[in-house]
Amino acid sequence: PAVLCLQQITKQFERSSVPAVNEATLALQQGELLALLGPSGCGKTTLLRLVAGFEKPQAGLIDLAGKQVCSDCRWVTPEQRSVGVVFQDYALFPHLSVLDNVAFGLKQQARQGEIAKPQVQKLAHEAIQLVGLKGFEQRYPHELSGGQQQRVALARALAPRPPLILLDEPFSNLDVQVRLYLRQEVRNILRQIGASGIFVTHDQEEALAISDRVAVMRQGHIEQIDTPETIYQQPASRFVAEFVTQANFIPARRQGAGWQTEIGYFDPSAISRWQKVAANDRAVAAELMIRQEDLGLESDPTGELVVRDRQFLGREYKYSILTPSARLLYARASTHQRFSVGDRIRAAISPGTLRLFPGSAADPGLL
Ligand code: ADP
Ligand code: MG
Repeated sequence: PAVLCLQQITKQFERSSVPAVNEATLALQQGELLALLGPSGCGKTTLLRLVAGFEKPQAGLIDLAGKQVCSDCRWVTPEQRSVGVVFQDYALFPHLSVLDNVAFGLKQQARQGEIAKPQVQKLAHEAIQLVGLKGFEQRYPHELSGGQQQRVALARALAPRPPLILLDEPFSNLDVQVRLYLRQEVRNILRQIGASGIFVTHDQEEALAISDRVAVMRQGHIEQIDTPETIYQQPASRFVAEFVTQANFIPARRQGAGWQTEIGYFDPSAISRWQKVAANDRAVAAELMIRQEDLGLESDPTGELVVRDRQFLGREYKYSILTPSARLLYARASTHQRFSVGDRIRAAISPGTLRLFPGSAADPGLL
């Protein structure tokens, strides 16, 4: 069953000429963790705030746990939506202990008769235990590390046991090690209690790493929503391909059965099998997408490509490569094979790794 259902949600702020969220539609299943991925300003936070009830859309429907919470004629306030929210900046009360921070919302619920009074302490302690902060109940936020503070924020959101947790860039203020650890923990905790979650991130790797599905947003619009594997292997648009995989794009012109580019000729066997289904039209110009890890390099003194830069990344090198038309391509290659800045090389592409996107014949660099 769907925990959350958004239909054609549109939100335009006053004095703004374009909608921050534009006809967003999505359904979140019970227990599912969805990553909302997109560049800064694309509407991720606004979409979360709409779900939580902090913003009112101009149009669209929101159902939460089978109940309509937003439509032309219905409006349920944030307090009544049973959604837990975790913000980027923790937003803890500095003058309250860990226990009191976590119990804060529960006490309010008890006053309104939504839960029994004895439940407050029980639920707060359970949530603190769940996030691994047992023993820290009497500490104050300033006595905790950033990662621990974010755990408190998570415990506070989880304590009333809402069916849905919203997390807005929850790990972005943390050190990389804490971030890697905590994001895995969040995933495990949500699994353990069977809650669904939406977490916002602008980090492609993070989105792919921990979510069941990824929704890629651009200018208020959801461009693609799919499993991490499908997003990576079958991007629905050039934007998704570029943003998620940081792939190279190179202009191509149809020649015979294949495609001619400034780095070589590619016959149909070079194109991804996913693409062959979709791209049997008569276009003469296209852009070829080449992922960084699929751009193989071979030493060639007469080659037209030149190594411009090399970065050592541990298990691989990242090269930037200059083409004859002064286009920069990026390649990741194993450390067995090392090229130096200034080396002449040619591209070696494995079969089935390229994708085609519509392109214009006027692109510079086209042969
Ligand atoms: P993201 O979280 O993806 O970075 P936001 O949802 O914060 O993006 O913002 C989306 C767009 O809406 C941006 O252009 C932003 O400037 C605008 N915006 C966000 N909040 C407000 C607001 N309260 N008033 C006016 N414009 C806003
Ligand atoms: Mg944001």
